[in-house]
Amino acid sequence: DYISAIPEESDMYLNRSSTIKLRVPDEDDCQEAMLLKNLYLSCDPYMRGVKHSDATSSTDQDRIVFFATDKPIVGYGVSKVVDSKHPEFKAGDLVWGITKWEEYTLIKNTQSFFKINHTDVPLSYYTGILGMPGMTAYAGFYEVCNPKKGEYVYVSSAFGAVGQLVGQFAKLMGCYVVGSAGSQEKVDILKNKFGFDEAFNYKEEADLAAALKRYFPQGIDIYFENVGGKMLDAVLLNMRLHGRIAVCGMISQYNFEQHQGVTNLMHLIYKRVRMEGFFVFDFYHLYPKFLDLVVPYIKQGNITYVEDIVEGLENGPASLVRLFSGRNAGKAVVVVARD
Ligand code: NDP
Repeated sequence: DYISAIPEESDMYLNRSSTIKLRVPDEDDCQEAMLLKNLYLSCDPYMRGVKHSDATSSTDQDRIVFFATDKPIVGYGVSKVVDSKHPEFKAGDLVWGITKWEEYTLIKNTQSFFKINHTDVPLSYYTGILGMPGMTAYAGFYEVCNPKKGEYVYVSSAFGAVGQLVGQFAKLMGCYVVGSAGSQEKVDILKNKFGFDEAFNYKEEADLAAALKRYFPQGIDIYFENVGGKMLDAVLLNMRLHGRIAVCGMISQYNFEQHQGVTNLMHLIYKRVRMEGFFVFDFYHLYPKFLDLVVPYIKQGNITYVEDIVEGLENGPASLVRLFSGRNAGKAVVVVARD
């Protein structure tokens, strides 16, 4: 798409005889632009809710629309800088930020990009544990939940990109941690690989409130909310006095036009619970502090991270759709190129 969009007068050209030479065009609005080669793309649940302004035709409204037809999907990714007019980024740098689902992307607004300095970890981690989902887990758990050693923590969608990390942060803090996920295989990994104290398959529980009562007879201090709907209702019945709920996401609701009602909100009052929504974007100023904490954890083996990697841009859409039925196991990543 980028190549076909290049104006003829630009200094970017395609040397068809041997190598492809790509450059940022010399246009007025490209003064700080970067040309990126996309390496790893991230599949994230929020992408379900993003509709391009063009996606308004009745045909589009009848089916799942991530973005407009014939336009590349926009999302987080890890990329290599091919050419740059921005003083802080140079050719060869590795970056992560909001790019497009295509091989090469011309970025005119570089504000959403972070330079990658730690390259002795898998680069794909910058779509997950060291990228936006990692920052979400960090901000939601440490900044919103105000956790204390020994507290009882429940994480839903616990084997996801965010959830697996929240559970491990909570264990490192000395909390008692229970996670839920949608298959026995995921439940086993939560307990055996990530060190959750307990885990259960929410799809096999006819009465979610009773299941939570079984795992938290004394109640829940902290709920890291990833799914919403019936799960939230069941959690509210099991919260402890002065508990905290960090509302990160509600994936069970993203495919509904009309969101399911939650009926047990009075329990916020009975138990003096604080329930707080948050957006990761408000916490990116903490990214250096986050790296200082998490990079050593990764290198010392205190934290592990599971990715669900598919090869090839053409397999990206299927990988994205899999998030909404739980067929991903871990952070969903699409490999476009490895270097
Ligand atoms: P995940 O990697 O957890 O992938 C989604 C998972 O959700 C699936 O694997 C599936 O796991 C589970 N799921 C899908 N449908 C349902 C359903 N109907 N009911 C219950 N579980 C379901 O995604 P992330 O870790 O990236 O994201 C987790 C949450 O955090 C999402 O709600 C997302 O929107 C939110 N988020 C919020 C941010 C913020 O700034 N507030 C930033 C980033 C993410 P299973 O097999 O367990 O069903």
